[in-house]
Amino acid sequence: MKIFIATKNQKKLLELKRILIPMGFDVLCEADLDFPFKDAVEDGLTFEENAIIKARSGLEQTGYITVADDSGICVDYLGGAPGVFSARYSGEHGNDEQNNDKLLSELSGVPIEKRTAYYVAAIACVFPDGRQFTVRGECHGHIAFERQSGSGGFGYDPLFISEQGPFSQLTAEQKDAISHRGKALVLFKEELKKYIEV
Ligand code: IMP
Repeated sequence: MKIFIATKNQKKLLELKRILIPMGFDVLCEADLDFPFKDAVEDGLTFEENAIIKARSGLEQTGYITVADDSGICVDYLGGAPGVFSARYSGEHGNDEQNNDKLLSELSGVPIEKRTAYYVAAIACVFPDGRQFTVRGECHGHIAFERQSGSGGFGYDPLFISEQGPFSQLTAEQKDAISHRGKALVLFKEELKKYIEV
């Protein structure tokens, strides 16, 4: 059975392939299409809404069962910001350095006990017959006062301290075991099994 993964992010693609291929799916991504794939407008108010928007767009363009995800970081002191705007917090989409600078400046002078934050990952799956589901994983911790050493991870990881330590200092395997995306992927696999027999 064919399944389409609607993401340009190679890391997310590999993570999803690691789950779906052993389940027996024939996994397709943008590179397998013979037409230009249009990105969806992510104007949802929640991670789940955005994941569904991306998955629906993939289904409409390909006709295949489609999987998509949306993720970000929520800072309690900032009322949940940057949230669904995490990738474009500083204005420019995907500029990690500027996003981290902005977060540090918004939290300037805020004491450690008020710097609690959590990552969220939502994964959506939509089917041609109209069925759909989402799963959500969270990873709680706090935002450091400055960038931490270590080159692991991406995005806000230099600033995020999990209960197991700074994300920038964890190996990929350590991060996968506790991360929002790792947790969402485990739930996703379980949920998908309820919907289809491959
Ligand atoms: P999207 O899910 O591709 O829309 O990206 C969401 C944004 O959230 C990314 O650009 C990162 O800034 C941030 N983000 C999501 N997951 C992580 C993570 O595991 N580490 C660091 N930043 C993340």
